[in-house]
Amino acid sequence: MEWQRANGLTDNGRFDDACAQKAGVTLNRMSTTEFTASGSIDQKKKDLLGFSPSKTWSTSEKNKIDGMVTSVSFPVHDENGKDNTKSLTIHNKLAANVKAIFTDIYTKVPTFRVVNVGGYCYRRINNGTGTQTLSNHSFGAAIDINYGADKGYDLVSKNSKVVNSKLNPFWSGGKPLDSGDTDYAMRTVNHPVVKACADHGFGWGGQYGDYMHFSFFDGH
Ligand SMILES: [Zn+2]
Repeated sequence: MEWQRANGLTDNGRFDDACAQKAGVTLNRMSTTEFTASGSIDQKKKDLLGFSPSKTWSTSEKNKIDGMVTSVSFPVHDENGKDNTKSLTIHNKLAANVKAIFTDIYTKVPTFRVVNVGGYCYRRINNGTGTQTLSNHSFGAAIDINYGADKGYDLVSKNSKVVNSKLNPFWSGGKPLDSGDTDYAMRTVNHPVVKACADHGFGWGGQYGDYMHFSFFDGH
């Protein structure tokens, strides 16, 4: 800002594209730039982290990744359909992507209710098989939206919809109790929340039955 003032480039306190053009500089949009990567999942992991992570627990890698994550806050329509704010922890390179995802959901899918969200957690996959393989939540590149809808907690909206009061049917190979898209759960690839995530680089876990899960690694 000081540099801008010194160069007389402020316009109502803003340094915008017109000012930048006058100054012959390219604006650094680092704080709002979404991260992109292409190639295999392993290549994307390397691009994101700067190294190829182990598939199983590594305390030294956990310590490194702990230093790469940040908390992101965003507006939501909560379980009562009211304006609220929620936050989650994600790799700092993906912070703008996550903010954009939830801003899109808030503005373009206003009927969707964000009850709870999850992000970074260095842990093994929790699918009941006892696998040692790390979840992609371990790399700060995966989010869960409304895990209550899949994990069997009662999730009651103001419309008194009880989503699912039984144990999560997915991990036991069952079918979801609610088979269609709703304003709290994604069940088909046509759900607008699936699209909002895809628009910002996050694939859907619903392709293999993890309906609440989205990740930068093609949904895995
Ligand atoms: Zn997940």
